[in-house]
Amino acid sequence: MRKALILILMIIGATTGVSAYRLKVVASYPYIASIVENIGKDRIQVSALARGDYDPHVIIPKPSYIGKVRKADLLIINGAQLEIGWLPPILNQAANPDILPGSRGFLDLSKYVSLIDVPESISRAQGDIHPEGNPHYYLDPYNIPPLSKAIAAKLNELDPGNESFYNGNLEAFLGLFNQKLEHWNDQMIPLKGAEVIEYHKNNDYFIRRFEMNLVGTVEPLPGIPPTSRHIESLEKIIQTKNIRFIFHDVYHPIEASRHLSIKFGLKLILIPHDVGAVKETDTIYSLYDTIIRRMVQ
Ligand SMILES: [Zn+2]
Repeated sequence: MRKALILILMIIGATTGVSAYRLKVVASYPYIASIVENIGKDRIQVSALARGDYDPHVIIPKPSYIGKVRKADLLIINGAQLEIGWLPPILNQAANPDILPGSRGFLDLSKYVSLIDVPESISRAQGDIHPEGNPHYYLDPYNIPPLSKAIAAKLNELDPGNESFYNGNLEAFLGLFNQKLEHWNDQMIPLKGAEVIEYHKNNDYFIRRFEMNLVGTVEPLPGIPPTSRHIESLEKIIQTKNIRFIFHDVYHPIEASRHLSIKFGLKLILIPHDVGAVKETDTIYSLYDTIIRRMVQ
């Protein structure tokens, strides 16, 4: 009886092509893991290293990160130097040649979008932590479809024979995501032309996509905390403008943004920068749902 059952299971396994091995995918950030889940579903195991409520530039590594990277078949990063301050030592210690930059098991998503603010010369010496251009491109939801296509192509490459599975999942994901894009676009129409200030240059792609107008940043340079002189000059600009919002993130100290908000009666909005940054952003869809709801309500 037991032997017959095992035989039946083997036949089912052989005819459906189901193998026990699932590709192990490690993503640097939760938003990447959320896209990967939609494309790879139960054929893969995916985990994100950083938590969504951490400062993405300065993740404090945990020992568990090394174990995850060591066992990974595929490492997917945001790139554009967002991980430069924390991922390289983990790659060194994990000593997994299969997922190092340049290998088949490595995917840098920044190669599939066009970056903005790419400097003519590297200005990191001044403290700018965006030396290759602004790395926060994923906050423009229109950049998610090309990323999902790159992820599906990589899964097809590493797990051949399952093209119809991954491509079908990609198609379903794009179908739903494109509907959401139309909806988000409609919601944002009334905010066209709105003048905004942000703390860190997290939202530039979003601001540009929905045709808002970025007037200034609370940080004098990306990664440099505000000085009183910078705040004074920002206040002079605010007085000449009709600022609608100050965008702040969930990890930088809020005092300077709050000061400007109170002094000039500006609406201060906490913008989640990743899946998991705030409670209700548990998927790639709810990330943008939440960002837009906070602006339009
Ligand atoms: Zn940044």
